[in-house]
Amino acid sequence: MLPLVGPMLAPTRPQTKDPAHASAANSGWRPRWRRHPCGVQSCTVVTAPVLEEPEPTRSPTAKASNVWVVDLDGVVWLAGQAIPGVAAAIEELRAHGVRLLFATNNSAPTIAELRARMANCGIAVDASDFVTSAQAAAALVAPGSTVLALAEGGAREALEARGARIVADGDADVVLVGWTRRFDFDRLAQAATAVRRGARLIGTNDDPTHPTPQGLLPGSGALLAAVATAAETRPEIAGKPNPAMVALVRSRAADIHLVVGDRPSTDGALARALDRPFALVYSGVTPPGTHPHPPPAITAADLGSLVARWVQERLPTSTVELDEQH
Ligand SMILES: [Mg+2]
Repeated sequence: MLPLVGPMLAPTRPQTKDPAHASAANSGWRPRWRRHPCGVQSCTVVTAPVLEEPEPTRSPTAKASNVWVVDLDGVVWLAGQAIPGVAAAIEELRAHGVRLLFATNNSAPTIAELRARMANCGIAVDASDFVTSAQAAAALVAPGSTVLALAEGGAREALEARGARIVADGDADVVLVGWTRRFDFDRLAQAATAVRRGARLIGTNDDPTHPTPQGLLPGSGALLAAVATAAETRPEIAGKPNPAMVALVRSRAADIHLVVGDRPSTDGALARALDRPFALVYSGVTPPGTHPHPPPAITAADLGSLVARWVQERLPTSTVELDEQH
């Protein structure tokens, strides 16, 4: 059990040699003594339904600092349905000067759709505060390339922004596979044939499953495996925890404090690639009580309980300890 200290709300003062602070520093929760202002826009809570999205408040190229990298599926929502307490938790973090960068391996929704889903959960998010496996995959594609895309709008949007040309069938420079419900034998045959004729096979991600309130559905990795097997090749994979996604996250966040996710093989590995602590929440694909290896720095039932304990621990006299695994 490792006590965590509350660094960012404390008044300005020099660091001490308190053992609790030393433990926190070792855990990656680095003590800071300067209060961070909260941007008015970023703290706004939007009530559903939302017809108009708020305008972005920052430059898309601006790097956020003091950041938590937070997964979406299984952390913020399940199939678009907000996990209880998540909006209040995010508002609490923002009020304490924490910036949120939402990193998802789900390539299906467009950025506008992600913003609308978040707004319907009561959370306002700038477009630049999403990083997606669709964007990471598009970064692997040379501008001007032809792409056969077995994927939804999010991947198509990212490819078009990259300057790629999406083709419906036939030869292509790249076959890109993302999560989609439009997947059948004919599409599988088209993709495998294009790869056999020389196309690169790129997967937005290889998550085997996709969490929903009703249970696990096949993930993009299941579709990608079918294409790779039929084409007898190994795909390039873009999303968490692979280098394209790591580079994308680093390009958006200057000072990452924590990575929060529900899947150790992707979110936990992303944290390790970023050399940051990983907080595993049991609100998605990982059943409560699971203790994966390597162990996460922190475990919590969900984002709400993680943030509640984090905030409580930050109080000057707090003795609360998080459920740390060693
Ligand atoms: Mg997830």
